[in-house]
Amino acid sequence: MVTLIDFLYSSIILSILIALGSLPSLISRIKLGLRKSEFKCLRCGNCCRFYFTELTKEDIKRLENAGYENFWEVREGKLCMKTKLGHCWFLENDRCKVYPLRPTVCREFPFFKLFGIIPIAHNAKNCPGLQAMRKK
Ligand code: SF4
Ligand code: SF4
Repeated sequence: MVTLIDFLYSSIILSILIALGSLPSLISRIKLGLRKSEFKCLRCGNCCRFYFTELTKEDIKRLENAGYENFWEVREGKLCMKTKLGHCWFLENDRCKVYPLRPTVCREFPFFKLFGIIPIAHNAKNCPGLQAMRKK
């Protein structure tokens, strides 16, 4: 008979094994994050099509102060950009309509700070700039 303790113990072991399995990928993404200054954006616009654009309150305020409205929503408890025809609300003719005011996540992409301090690359398979960097 499996007890609650056995179950919890197995769950902890399983979580550790899963975490160890993803460790090599995490390390390689941190190594890319440390090379952030080498990144060259190829301006393909994929980040405006394939990724969920999370917003901060400051991002919303900046865009609203510039006169934009009705562009954000709450999804899965997070503030995020609405999409239109499967891409970002502000993508028009393959160009960002609000480029100088774009959200923080767009400025940082394909990188972010893990726990707010460790530079790391997103697991962004659709970013050719990042894929090119991986090959160097
Ligand atoms: S705000 Fe601009 S840069 Fe950011 S996802 Fe939308 S179109 Fe792309
Ligand atoms: S997907 Fe990558 S290479 Fe393409 S525009 Fe975005 S950041 Fe630049």
